Amino acid sequence: MRKDFLVFGSPLIEQPEIDEVVATLKSGWIGTGPKTHKFEDAFKAHTGTKHAIALSSCTAALHLALRAIGVSEGDEIIVPSMTFAATANTVVHCGARPVFADCDRETQNILPEDIERRITQKTKAIVVVHMAGRPCEMDEILKIAKRHDLKVIEDAAHAIETEYKGRKAGTIGDIGCFSFYVTKNLVTAEGGMATTENDAYAQNMRVLSLHGLSADAWKRYGEEGYKHYDVVEAGYKYNMTDLQASLGFHQLARIEVHRERREELWQRYMRELAGLPLILPAPIREHERHAYHLFTVIIDTKKAGITRDEFLDGMTKRNIGTGVHFRALHLQPYYRKLLGHKEGDLPNAEWIGDRTVSIPFSAKLTDDDVSDVIHAIKDIFTHAKQ
Ligand SMILES: *Cc1c(COP(=O)(O)O)cnc(C)c1O
Repeated sequence: MRKDFLVFGSPLIEQPEIDEVVATLKSGWIGTGPKTHKFEDAFKAHTGTKHAIALSSCTAALHLALRAIGVSEGDEIIVPSMTFAATANTVVHCGARPVFADCDRETQNILPEDIERRITQKTKAIVVVHMAGRPCEMDEILKIAKRHDLKVIEDAAHAIETEYKGRKAGTIGDIGCFSFYVTKNLVTAEGGMATTENDAYAQNMRVLSLHGLSADAWKRYGEEGYKHYDVVEAGYKYNMTDLQASLGFHQLARIEVHRERREELWQRYMRELAGLPLILPAPIREHERHAYHLFTVIIDTKKAGITRDEFLDGMTKRNIGTGVHFRALHLQPYYRKLLGHKEGDLPNAEWIGDRTVSIPFSAKLTDDDVSDVIHAIKDIFTHAKQ
């Protein structure tokens, strides 16, 4: 058995990030400043969008995106149940009501026909999540949005490298929201980015991200001397710092190298986990470019003779870290109470949520780490059968 615990989602940090962080610490300017803007420029070049606003998290980006499109009390926002809490929590932060939609069992992405079924007079927007790095059916979703005059926000937390029919995730809807949290494909410890083509949305999100101060207020202690600012909104404290950005642009420069490594791991997992009581990720279709963010398996509980949670325990005992992305959000206590949901309401999200496991899948993994993961999984099923 593996001696040390294999941490799930441990990031690959290399010397350029370390040197840049140290240089930033020594520079005397560690808050929002030139390096944050350098990271924004690099991200704009990566996505090809007109605007990119660096923020403290993807949660902040989602909140500001909803604010920018004018979401407020009484609005309904359609969100997938198969997602992280932040996708729906930020709707509540705006005083609006999340309306959960079900997903496809294979792609785990929101189902366009289930979106359409849930549209009412109060619906203002759809938030889609490119689950695990696989793009949603954006053509169908955009058609529905157009038909009902709705905005589309892309939660691209898993999807920096994702493309749909040649278009980059986060640039297809009205606003894209990215995450640089510790387990994501690009890490700044905590951090996020909002992208858009819309000048007014961009300006609004930038002002709201720094207390509602008039533009460029971050420069007020800069070389040009003290500058007055105006408070034009009751904004938030969502700005990114130069310390975080120091990690960001070096990580972005290696994003494709890291993806290539994960693609190798993906193919190895697909080969070596075949034939076990697991449902492996669905084939990647021709019009999709997968970000390879998560490698999720569905435990075939009947064939395996164990539950998902027993599988998780088995992995922990064998010193392998795991994740669960995600348990169905509509059945979490807060949303059950808020919206009156019960088991059976969104059967596909619940089916996945009860069976899914994410196994270690980071560019940092060595071939031996991957062998340990595969060995542990085979060992669990061998013992379960006895
Ligand atoms: C991680 C994640 C978020 C939140 O990202 P933060 O940067 O931690 O705020 C939002 N949505 C999804 C789908 C995520 O996986």
